[in-house]
Amino acid sequence: MHRILQRFWPALLDGQGHPNVRRAAAGDLAELTASRISELFDEETALLAARVSRRYPALWQGVRSRWIEALVRGVYRDLRRLLEEEARIGAVEKTLSAEFASVNGGSFSLRGRLDRLDILPDGSLRVVDYKTAGSVNSVKKMIDLKEALRAERLQIPLYGELAVRCGDLPGVSGGGDLSAASEGQGLLRRRGRVIGQVLPIGPGFDADLLGRWDELVLEWPPGDGSDSLAESFRHTLQVLVDMAARGSFPLNDYGPCQICEYAPACRKSHPPSVERVRTAPSYRPYFLLKEKTKSKPFPPATGMGG
Ligand code: SF4
Repeated sequence: MHRILQRFWPALLDGQGHPNVRRAAAGDLAELTASRISELFDEETALLAARVSRRYPALWQGVRSRWIEALVRGVYRDLRRLLEEEARIGAVEKTLSAEFASVNGGSFSLRGRLDRLDILPDGSLRVVDYKTAGSVNSVKKMIDLKEALRAERLQIPLYGELAVRCGDLPGVSGGGDLSAASEGQGLLRRRGRVIGQVLPIGPGFDADLLGRWDELVLEWPPGDGSDSLAESFRHTLQVLVDMAARGSFPLNDYGPCQICEYAPACRKSHPPSVERVRTAPSYRPYFLLKEKTKSKPFPPATGMGG
């Protein structure tokens, strides 16, 4: 589905990144969206369709209709919003990377591949992440800062952090004024803010959630502008990277257990093993992250303040 959206938007934009349909009537926009999305869906799913519809033609027709309906509904709404905001699309499927200070005084580099980067008229950046599957709860957790501080859901805050810090945004329309990497947060001050947004547009999401897109955002840096929450998030990243570098991977119920190949041998359901891991000195920095909250982003035991 990401391929469909990746192809849909660039074909619609003018040289500045504005949707090139500003004078189209609402009915024409809806028709254009529906026909283009249907076309792209059929192209991108041709192999799958051939395989499934050979044996289950009615099933495939049902799946196809559900997905196209959901995508058209979501993309049309997204397009209308972009036009109303007079926002432009700066990049589609772009990788951002930035250097971070590590716990041992060195540095590490992190990369994130954004689904889409919008530029709002006031200069703010909006990092968009499409969700085509998952529960409402999982979507809400993606923008829950506490989840990020505790190293449970990192994606949206990481995108926000990268967009703030990264001056090199290849392919961004008119992107010369975005080159501020060496100035740290200078980019943010000029741009105003970065907004991380989750856009749920799969058929599994109910219409109610689609009507509440504006709630599915996380501003970066978060909080009162004091930078303490962003600093705490960077500390979380440091702890994770440091542990990965040391080869320390604690048992973790929040991990990708459902798709883990080691699940049959895993000791996560063995309380003594779990307790040993939880109290092992090498894992302590990780489990201390679980004490972070938005009101206490630097619990005393982390050694980051009090
Ligand atoms: S099953 Fe065990 S090893 Fe696999 S992700 Fe979950 S906790 Fe980690």
